[in-house]
Amino acid sequence: MTSNRPPRARHVRVLATLGPASNSVERIRALYEAGADAFRVNMSHGDDASRLKLIETVRGLESELGRPMTILADLQGPKLRVGRFAEDRVELRAGQRFRLDSDETPGDAERVRLPHPEILAVLSPGHRLLLDDGRLVLKVTAAGEGWVETEVQVPGALSNNKGLNVPDAVVPLPALTAKDRHDLSLALEAGVDWVALSFVQRADDVAEAKKLIGGRALLMAKIEKPAAMDDLEAIVELADAIMVARGDLGVELPPQEVPGAQKRMVAAARRAGKPVVVATQMLESMILSPSPTRAEVSDVANAIYDGVDAVMLSAESAAGQWPVQAVAMMDAIAREVERDSAYEGQIGFVETIPEPTTADALCAAARGIQKTVDAVAVVCFTTSGSTARRIARERIPAGLLVMTPKLATARRLGLTWGVHAVHTRDITDFEGMVAKSKRMAIRHHVAEAGDRLVVMAGVPFGVPGSTNVLHVVRLVGDELERHRR
Ligand code: ATP
Ligand code: MG
Ligand code: MG
Repeated sequence: MTSNRPPRARHVRVLATLGPASNSVERIRALYEAGADAFRVNMSHGDDASRLKLIETVRGLESELGRPMTILADLQGPKLRVGRFAEDRVELRAGQRFRLDSDETPGDAERVRLPHPEILAVLSPGHRLLLDDGRLVLKVTAAGEGWVETEVQVPGALSNNKGLNVPDAVVPLPALTAKDRHDLSLALEAGVDWVALSFVQRADDVAEAKKLIGGRALLMAKIEKPAAMDDLEAIVELADAIMVARGDLGVELPPQEVPGAQKRMVAAARRAGKPVVVATQMLESMILSPSPTRAEVSDVANAIYDGVDAVMLSAESAAGQWPVQAVAMMDAIAREVERDSAYEGQIGFVETIPEPTTADALCAAARGIQKTVDAVAVVCFTTSGSTARRIARERIPAGLLVMTPKLATARRLGLTWGVHAVHTRDITDFEGMVAKSKRMAIRHHVAEAGDRLVVMAGVPFGVPGSTNVLHVVRLVGDELERHRR
């Protein structure tokens, strides 16, 4: 994997969900070229074959383009969903009756299957049912063995497998369903880099999933239950990353409480040096329109000003009419925000105090040195990727070139702020470290003659362990020519 493509012209990463609007190699290539750094495969939709095909297509593109690519498999979790409709979607009118039952016959405008007997069992008159991230509201008027009758309070279109929330009843939720276990082994077998765990309620849920994954991928905890907010620090501590999953969170919490919750999550993850992804409805109107609303642009921009690692597209790229334009819009917003002279000060509002380790001391020092000598980039040699994450945590306003001998590490770093990962042979000595830093910085177009680089590595070389070398190198003219060849 040795393409010399330049890094993105921004630090924040773009995560794009794949789906029917983005399942061909041409389309996924176009998403990548427009700025998608990582791809999400939602295990809630499609079948095994279509998900495997998406993963294989991204891997094919990875070898074609010669850049490590990041794949996140998002497990559905104990999400409640309605069944399918004979005509894929129906229109529900205000005030009409609508029935949910356990009949497997495809639904129509009068009824649909609810494939969760335990939920049908706890519903009773007066309970509200929120459908499709709360877009539609039904109220239960009568309940019997295996069915409920409802009245449509907030009307709208309802299509196959849309989500359902029951905020008025207590429902027992396991961390992983039987379907999740199946999907997890499928995803791990296919070699995904990250697994997202939905509806995390407590740190124990994360621990259980990590045990099952056994280090074969990293784990992202989706924060979408109010209960998870009460256990946030412990969840962040155990997980490898978190997602601010605003879809379900905004249904279960009053919507006005979501922005504050988002800021608390972003700060907690950034302090811990774990990637944080903001998701759902970021450019929602671009599902149907080639241009976003001003409020959407502002939402994406504000997440970036808060220093998030990645912003995500859901239906915009998976099922919308303008998937490539949506990615290009995220890229354009990010570049503009990061060019703003206020950006550096804004991301500095979250204080990331070094922990008492050598690696953190060196990362903090690298930040000071970069500023003092105005280095164009930090070059970091890492095996596991942990040093790269600790440097990214410093949010240094320069390039971040990460060299790793492990392809899995390069792929896993695709959701970390600012990282341009290069899969390359390990260095064996100090001269090799200096020469490789210069050569790679030139090849990847991050440095020119006269530029300085801050280089970080671990000694002894070639042995995984923590970073303990910090070195400044300066490129001179004739080296430039030599390395270009
Ligand atoms: P989650 O709660 O995990 O976010 P979701 O249903 O909201 O699940 P998203 O991936 O956030 O799903 O949004 C993608 C939208 O695109 C879905 O609402 C769905 O209607 C549509 N879609 C249809 N087929 C697919 C597919 N194969 N993969 C992903 N999305 C799909
Ligand atoms: Mg969603
Ligand atoms: Mg969800």
